[in-house]
Amino acid sequence: MQKLARLAALVSLVLGGPGTSAQQAPQGRTQPPSTDGKLNVIAFGAHPDDCDQRAGGSAIKWAALGHRVRFVSVTNGDAGHQTEGGGALAARRRAEAREAGRRIGIEYITLDNHDGELLPTLKPREDIIRQIRQWNADLVLAPRPNDYHPDHRYTGALVQDAAYMVVVPNIAPDTPALRRNPVFLYFQDGFQRPNPFRPDIAVAIDDVIEKKIDMLDAHVSQFYEWLPWVAGNLEKVPKGAAERKQWLKQTRAGRQPSPAVREALNKWYGPQKGNAVRHAEAFEICEYGTRPDEAMLRRLFPFFVE
Ligand SMILES: [Zn+2]
Repeated sequence: MQKLARLAALVSLVLGGPGTSAQQAPQGRTQPPSTDGKLNVIAFGAHPDDCDQRAGGSAIKWAALGHRVRFVSVTNGDAGHQTEGGGALAARRRAEAREAGRRIGIEYITLDNHDGELLPTLKPREDIIRQIRQWNADLVLAPRPNDYHPDHRYTGALVQDAAYMVVVPNIAPDTPALRRNPVFLYFQDGFQRPNPFRPDIAVAIDDVIEKKIDMLDAHVSQFYEWLPWVAGNLEKVPKGAAERKQWLKQTRAGRQPSPAVREALNKWYGPQKGNAVRHAEAFEICEYGTRPDEAMLRRLFPFFVE
């Protein structure tokens, strides 16, 4: 399976898969305007697996309702391994990301910026502007710009920098500007300074947690190799595919919602349902882009009506 995935990555590199062509070629719209009642959601993570962890469950829910979701990794992940690196690792991780997207029915593309070296410069900013325009996004998700990892920080900064420019026709003029600014939201994180994450909206994902784990399971190089190695517990990873997936679930899906997220769950689902939720994803409204009111948030997160 792993060999196949690597082969697929190589083939797509040679032929120019969506990860490379979407970044380089000037493009028009790739999505119809969302007048069909379907949302266009795009999420940016620094690395192939970041969006999955922060918004994978919500993406599963959007996709199940026929909404269009694209995950974009702003770097190619070519530094994220203890024994592999460079182009071979980038190809492996691009294939893993694509497989993760396939498993939940969304698009997943990887831009070709080096892992660990991302800076908030014009080139990646314009690439992000093009991505948001091509997707004709109603909703954009990204990390906050305060985080331990420079790539996460600058991905947050780059998306902030794009948040107004997506409607300015003279910027990246090869891709038609949006007439309507999307709503921008931040992923949840645990950082306290300069200010803690504020869960403006929280999504219960108990019903899709198995599928989210299945999505994470596609990132073999990360969840079973690199991240355990960084944490110093590589020897704890079971060898068999089913056993290691079970281990992934135990180690990744155990955390209860924080008190602040619980409060948000109670607000959106009512206290009876909200208090029973075990797994959630939460988002904070960015001050840039369109500022959504509660009615708009309910349209963007059509999960609260049973
Ligand atoms: Zn990351």
